Amino acid sequence: MATYHGSRCKQCRSHGMKLFLKGQRCYTDKCAVERRAYGPGQHGQRRRRKPTDYGIQLKEKQKAKRIYGVLEKQFKNYYKEAERQKGVTGENLMRLLERRLDNVVYRVGFAPSRSAARELVVHGHFRVNGRKVDIPSYLIKPGDEVTVREKSQRVHDVRMSVDAKAGVGTVEWLELDPKKFSGRVLELPSREQIPSPVNEQLIVNFYSR
Ligand code: SF4
Repeated sequence: MATYHGSRCKQCRSHGMKLFLKGQRCYTDKCAVERRAYGPGQHGQRRRRKPTDYGIQLKEKQKAKRIYGVLEKQFKNYYKEAERQKGVTGENLMRLLERRLDNVVYRVGFAPSRSAARELVVHGHFRVNGRKVDIPSYLIKPGDEVTVREKSQRVHDVRMSVDAKAGVGTVEWLELDPKKFSGRVLELPSREQIPSPVNEQLIVNFYSR
């Protein structure tokens, strides 16, 4: 299974915005975007040329890939699937990305970031409807219940995340029961219920060239 192993903070800096890829650190003044508000690398502080339409669309696609931790081939497959589905392609794409098990584990509050969620899923800490699932790209459906294995409820990252989320609640389309370490998918999200800073129409334009 391919994963990106480079610097996540560099990814945020290249987009000039916080993508919240590292959990708690992203909310502190240690965040690299707060400390160095310019692009990464030797030429990061140079004035950049005005980007072309193609450049803007490409960058938006890269941003979505980075936020959800998906590599190129898999992202393109999500796009093809979104195109096949009824409705608005861009919204379908965002919904497919949100349905990934690692994203649901993060959103519901079992992990501090999607990358941590992915690792926890791969290590077999979760069950979906009572069955162990260790595939981060597994797509959840409305009514599914994601639970933390009993033994895994003592894992530091899981405990800390659940405690933090219990106070503030999760997204509208998910329900967290912090006492049972259980999350339920109430419905699939509408675009308004997906708090990701992505302009999916630019991605559609990119693939429609
Ligand atoms: Fe991005 Fe988080 Fe790193 Fe800040 S700390 S640059 S938000 S990954």
